[in-house]
Amino acid sequence: MAHNSERRDDANCFMTMRPIAKFCLVAIAYSLSVLNAGAAEHRRVMILHSVGREFRPWNEYAKDIRAELDRQSPWPLDVQEHSLIAARPDDQNSEAPFVEYLSALYGKRPPDLIISVGAPSAGFIQRHRRELFSTTPMLFTVVEQRRVLASDLTEYDTVVAVRHDFRVLFESFLRISPDTKIVAIVNGDSPNERFWQGEMRRELQPLEGRIEIRWFDKLSYEDLLKQTAALPPHSAIFWYQMIADGAGIAHEGDRALQRLYATANAPIFSHDDAFFGREIVGGPMHSALAGSKRAVAVAMRILGGEKPGTIKTRPSDFAPAKYDWRELHRWNISERLLPPGAEVDFRVPSTWESYRWQIILICAVVLVQTLLISLLLHERGRRSFAEVQSRQRMSELAHVNRFSTAGELTATIAHEINQPLGAIRVNIETAELMVKSPSPDLQEIGEILADIRRDDQRASEVIGRLRSLLTKAPFELKPIDLNEVARETIQFLSALAIAREVNLTSSIAPTPVPIRGDLVQVQQVILNLIVNAMDAMSGMPVAERRIVVSTARDGNSGDIFVSDAGPGIPVDKLKEVFEPFFTTKPQGMGMGLSIARTIVEAHGGQLSAENQAGRGVAFRIRLPLAALPK
Ligand code: ADP
Repeated sequence: MAHNSERRDDANCFMTMRPIAKFCLVAIAYSLSVLNAGAAEHRRVMILHSVGREFRPWNEYAKDIRAELDRQSPWPLDVQEHSLIAARPDDQNSEAPFVEYLSALYGKRPPDLIISVGAPSAGFIQRHRRELFSTTPMLFTVVEQRRVLASDLTEYDTVVAVRHDFRVLFESFLRISPDTKIVAIVNGDSPNERFWQGEMRRELQPLEGRIEIRWFDKLSYEDLLKQTAALPPHSAIFWYQMIADGAGIAHEGDRALQRLYATANAPIFSHDDAFFGREIVGGPMHSALAGSKRAVAVAMRILGGEKPGTIKTRPSDFAPAKYDWRELHRWNISERLLPPGAEVDFRVPSTWESYRWQIILICAVVLVQTLLISLLLHERGRRSFAEVQSRQRMSELAHVNRFSTAGELTATIAHEINQPLGAIRVNIETAELMVKSPSPDLQEIGEILADIRRDDQRASEVIGRLRSLLTKAPFELKPIDLNEVARETIQFLSALAIAREVNLTSSIAPTPVPIRGDLVQVQQVILNLIVNAMDAMSGMPVAERRIVVSTARDGNSGDIFVSDAGPGIPVDKLKEVFEPFFTTKPQGMGMGLSIARTIVEAHGGQLSAENQAGRGVAFRIRLPLAALPK
C-alpha cells in the first residue's frame, strides 16, 4: 500500500522552504521565463494530476495525453507536470500552500495551457481560478461532466468530459452474468469517492429489487478484502476507485486492485478501460486512448489561438464493450451472452489454433509412417513366406541330393549290413550245434547270444542312419555339437572310405563346438564334401588318397574343415563350383555344393573353399556358435 506520508510532492517541499529560498526560486522562475520569451514557437503546457502520478485510471490518461501531445503538436512543447495531493483526506490543508507554490513557479510567466487530469484537480482549479492565472487557458479533462461546475467556468476554460451511466454498466454485466444476485461496490471514502457513492446509490436504485448492492466504503481496505473474499455464490464486484479507504489510508498505484483480484471470489467489472488488461472482466467502458485523443485535439486548438470558452464538446459515453477472454473463462461467462460486436481480447489460443500446421504436419508424418510400416510389415510377411517356401524347396532338393548320394552308398551299406548279418548267421549255426550236444555249455551259448544281440544292434544302427539320412524331415534348428556331427558322419562313411581305398581321418576339437542346426542337413553337407573329395582323388595312387575332417572354434564361430590331397580347384573356379549345375564329372549333377552352401547359409553361416599350400583343397563350413546344450 502506498501511504501518502511516504510521498511528498513538490508543493509540500515549497511549503517547508525558508522565505529566502522561496525568493530565490521565484527569481529563478522569473529569469527562466524571460529567457524563454524569446522562443516564440515554444508552447508551455502544465499537466495537473489529481492524487498522484501513479493513480489509476488517471495515470493511464496522462500517459496517453503526453504521447498524443507529442504526436499532434506542430510546436515544440515544454510539458511540466504537477500532482495535487490535496485530494487525499489527510491533506485538506495543503491546498493554499500548493496554490502559492504554483503561483511562485508560474506567476511571471504562466503556461500557455493548463490541463487538469481527473476530478480532484478540476475541482482544485475551479476553486482557485482567480489566484491561478485567471486568464491562462484551461482544459478540464479526464473528468465526469458532473465534477465540473458549469457556473464557475470562465471564458478561458473548456471541458472535455465523459459521462458515467452506472445503470448501463450494471445492466450490461447482468446480461452476461444473469445469475448475479449480489454486487459489492469497491469505492473509497475520499471527497471525490463520497460524491460518487451518492451518485451510484441514486442511479442504481431501480436495480435494488433485482440485486443486492453491498457498500464497503467505510471499511479499511484490509476488511474490505476479507468481505470480497467471502462473497456468497452469484456475486460480482464493481471496482470504481480507491483514493483512500474507510480508514483514511491512501492507495496509489495498482496494488489495491491487484490484491482485490488475488483474493476476491467473484468477477470484477469496472467503468474505465484503464483498469482493463488483467483483473477485470470488461464491458462497456470509457476509453483512455480515445478520451486522451479528444482532449489533446482540443488542446491543440487552444495552443493554436482559439478561445477556450468557444470550444464546446459533448461528454463522451462508454466505448463499445470489450472483454478479457481469460476472465470470461475463469468465471464461466459464455461468449454467446456478450453484446453483438463485442471485442474479446487476450484470447489464449487453443492448442489447435496455436499449432494447427504443426499438428497437421505431425499427423501427416504419422500417417505416412503408419502406411510405410504396414507396407513394410506386409513385405516382411511376404518375405518370410518366401523364405519358408525357399527353405522347403531347399529341403526337397537336399532330399533328392541325398538319394543320389545314397546310390553311391548302397555298396558300402550292403557291406556294412552284411558283416553283422554274416556274423549272426555263423553264431546261430554254432549255437544250434551246441544246443544239439548232450551237455551244452550254457555259458558259451549265453556269450553267443550276446554277440548276436550286438551284431543285430550294429545292423539296425546302419539302417537307422540310412533312414535318418533319407527321411524327408522339415528344416528344424536344434542345439547340436559339431564334434558329434563330424564323428557320426565319418563313422557313417568309414565303410565307403574302405571301399574306395581312401584314408579318412578326423581331428576333432578338444572342447564341444555347439551350434544351432539341423543335424541331418549339416551331416549331408559334410557327407557331400567328403564324397566330392573321394571323387577328386579317385585317379590318384591309393597311398596318396587322404581326407581329414577337423573341427575347431574360432571366436564366435565353429568350423568344420574337409581337406583332401586331390588336385585342388583351379583358382578361377573357386567361386564357380558353388553355382548350380557346375560339374566336371561326366555323371555329375553339379548341385551338391550349391545345395550345401544354401544349407550352410540357412544356418547363418558360410561355406568356402581354398586350395591348400601343399595339395588338394580345404572346404570350410563356418557356423555361428550357440550356447552349449544343457
Ligand atoms: P557334382 O559333384 O555333381 O559335380 P558338386 O556341386 O558337388 O557337383 O561339385 C561341383 C564341382 O566342384 C565338381 O564337379 C568338381 O569339379 C568340383 N569339386 C568339388 N569338390 C572338389 C574337390 N574336393 N576337389 C576338386 N574339385 C572339387
